[in-house]
Amino acid sequence: MVKCPKCGTEAAAPVKTWMITRKTSKPGQSSQRTMGLFQCPSCKARFRATLDTEREKKPEEKVSIKNMVERIRVIKGELMQTLKNLREKIKTLETERANLMLEIEELKKMAESKVSALESEVAMLREEVKSLKELLGYPETEMKE
Ligand SMILES: [Zn+2]
Repeated sequence: MVKCPKCGTEAAAPVKTWMITRKTSKPGQSSQRTMGLFQCPSCKARFRATLDTEREKKPEEKVSIKNMVERIRVIKGELMQTLKNLREKIKTLETERANLMLEIEELKKMAESKVSALESEVAMLREEVKSLKELLGYPETEMKE
């Protein structure tokens, strides 16, 4: 906390803040500091003070953690959406497979009935051939049967 240099009362928040850059002992390096203009709540005196750098860092950290939590939430949401889409896709594919199985079953039945129709047609033709042979006098056919 920053105290008033005149009466010693603690000043809560700065009226105004600004950044200053100062060169350090190491060449090519500089440090940034935040300065604040305060007004004493008791004697109304205005004074400048350096703001605690630790206090400057903390809100940033809080913000970045908050951002990370938000990002994780977004990623989680996207994953849930992807899973939902995949589940829907699987469901659609399973339905399609079931439909195709039914269609194959129907085609099989159709083929089977076609086979049995052809078989009965062939049997009828055989009968016709047999009766024609009988009519023309082929006794060996009769003996075979
Ligand atoms: Zn004061």
